[in-house]
Amino acid sequence: MSEKKKALLLLSGGLDSAVALHMMKEQNLEVEAVHFTSLFCTCGGKGGGCGPAAKVAESEGIKLHIVNKGEDYIEIIKKPKHGRGSNMNACIDCRIYSFRKAKELMTKIGASFIVTGEVLNQRPMSQHRKALLIIEKEAELEGLVLRPLSALVLDETLPEKEGWVDRKKFKNISGRGRKEQLSFAQEKGVKDFSCPAGGCLLTDPQFSRRLKDLMEDKPEFGSKDVALLKYGRHFRLGEKAKLVVGRNQSENDILEKIKEPKDYTFVLVDYNGPLALLTGENIKKYKEFAASITARYGDVPDRGVKVKVEIAEGPEAGKKVIEVLPAKDAELLVFLI
Ligand code: SF4
Repeated sequence: MSEKKKALLLLSGGLDSAVALHMMKEQNLEVEAVHFTSLFCTCGGKGGGCGPAAKVAESEGIKLHIVNKGEDYIEIIKKPKHGRGSNMNACIDCRIYSFRKAKELMTKIGASFIVTGEVLNQRPMSQHRKALLIIEKEAELEGLVLRPLSALVLDETLPEKEGWVDRKKFKNISGRGRKEQLSFAQEKGVKDFSCPAGGCLLTDPQFSRRLKDLMEDKPEFGSKDVALLKYGRHFRLGEKAKLVVGRNQSENDILEKIKEPKDYTFVLVDYNGPLALLTGENIKKYKEFAASITARYGDVPDRGVKVKVEIAEGPEAGKKVIEVLPAKDAELLVFLI
């Protein structure tokens, strides 16, 4: 074995990357990790990080870098060069983006190559052989991405050829099963992993519907618009006009915070109920309907009787109260996103 090199590992916090990390720790290497967060991540860590990734890094005693995928990532998601999976997930473009960022960090910290927990053929869109090669090529990392879980069924990488790592210690896992990784984790005491597949809102059908609607309605959308998609019930009331109805107190509070001066908010005067946010352009004409939808989701004892709804129309117009009948479920379906 030659001099001790440094590797940068992409750590999601899931089983595979935790196992890959442990395998790399068993080599004669220095290892640091990077975890990517984005608006679409549902891993739920505090401070912008991913809880499981931080825990795994801590239990393995390695330095963790957190990189947030920002507005430039949203631009990639809007127009992915390599298409989408079954929902709005643009996995190949997403991986290229992450690998490019990882390459920048690799150079910055003086690492010599990248390591991932990817398993050949585990994910249909981004982990088949051809996709792995495209991703490496477009990220300008050819030969520099080591995948220890599948290394023995993939071409030798530079770190293996140069003897920076011992290839014999790697595995030949392929496919969707997790048995081998789990038994490795058990045997070696790898713990604290979680957040496996499913931590990405772009693979969620309901979120994808909302994102598609946003793309059609406001092609120049940004992170604030995306953030709004995560909360409440969404109703497309017309071109450029959308109503978001909070489903609980915490969502009501978030909607209140997200509200911009030109937006309207709606609350019931005499009953408990949601806060609803009407946003977009030329929204004034939708305010009665928005009020009646707000009433529909309130604790109103008799839906056949008019109720008072307070509308906050921005700082200049102040607040107004109107009376409306709660909307009927059947008439709402067509507006629900
Ligand atoms: S599932 Fe989401 S985070 Fe994972 S590669 Fe696909 S788009 Fe990226």
